[in-house]
Amino acid sequence: MLKIGLKDCLCCGESLPVAAQFGNFNGRCASICLHCEALSVHDAVSLTAETIGKRYRMLIEDKSTRLEARRAAKRAAYDVHGKRCACCHHYKPTDHYNACQSRADGLQPNCRVCDALRVTLLAKPGGLATWRLTRAALRAAAAQLQIAAQSDVARQSGHYQTET
Ligand SMILES: [Zn+2]
Ligand SMILES: [Zn+2]
Repeated sequence: MLKIGLKDCLCCGESLPVAAQFGNFNGRCASICLHCEALSVHDAVSLTAETIGKRYRMLIEDKSTRLEARRAAKRAAYDVHGKRCACCHHYKPTDHYNACQSRADGLQPNCRVCDALRVTLLAKPGGLATWRLTRAALRAAAAQLQIAAQSDVARQSGHYQTET
């Protein structure tokens, strides 16, 4: 339905009929309703602050609801395939990750094993080089697993007979 004729008062925040409740201001519709125009300056200022505060709180609430919904969608996908560790590239269940509220999915990008390994290796002399080699090896192993999983799918689709 069209909402012709209604306007939000910038002071009290109410949606009111333009014709009946808003005056003219230099030939344009006033931005505050007749009721608010009649208020003392002090009352109008505090009413405006309350309206803005209310809208701001609604905006914040809306944002956090959307964040929760996005998070829930990501978590549902992780329940099926696991979450890919940014470090070792293995897919692991969400309980293998520490929580991190600033992240979109609420989890740290690296799995706990990688975090611990990184700390241990970096504490040793020449640890950075060792860590990079280890990480490369873990990623290569993850890639091998992916290839194996894909050929399993091909076998199961009935193109191969693998019985012995
Ligand atoms: Zn008003
Ligand atoms: Zn990892």
